[in-house]
Amino acid sequence: MTDKNCVFCKIVAGEIPSQKVYEDDKMLVFRDIEPKAKVHLLAVAKDHFKLLSEMDGERAELLKYMLCKIPEIAAENGCGNGYRLVINQGEDAGQTVFHLHIHILGGEILPW
Ligand code: AMP
Ligand code: ZN
Repeated sequence: MTDKNCVFCKIVAGEIPSQKVYEDDKMLVFRDIEPKAKVHLLAVAKDHFKLLSEMDGERAELLKYMLCKIPEIAAENGCGNGYRLVINQGEDAGQTVFHLHIHILGGEILPW
C-alpha cells in the first residue's frame, strides 16, 4: 500500500530525493534531513502504514525483517561502536511523519 500524500512513500517512489544508504524489495534506509546525531538514518518499510499501534502479524514480520537487517547497515555506516533505535508513536512522542520508520542514531557517544 502507498499513500500519495506521504513524504516517505514519495521517497520510496523516488519522487522526492534522499540520500539512500540501503535498499531492497522491502525496506529503504536513508539519511535524516535534520540529523539529531552524527549518524542519523531512517529505516522505512516500503509498504505504507502509519503507526506502530497498527501492528499486525504481517507487519510484525516486516518489522522483524528490518530489525534483522539494521545491525549490518548500522555497522556499515559508522555505528560499529553502538547506536540507538527509536520509533516515535503518535503526537506525544513527536511523530511528524505518519509512515512507520525506525530512527538509527549513532556515530558518537549519545546523550540519554
Ligand atoms: P518522526 O518525528 O519520528 O516522525 O521523524 C520524522 C523524521 O523524518 C524527522 O527526523 C525528520 O527530520 C525526517 N524527515 C522529514 N522529511 C524528510 C526528508 N524529505 N528526507 C529525510 N528525512 C526527512
Ligand atoms: Zn507512506
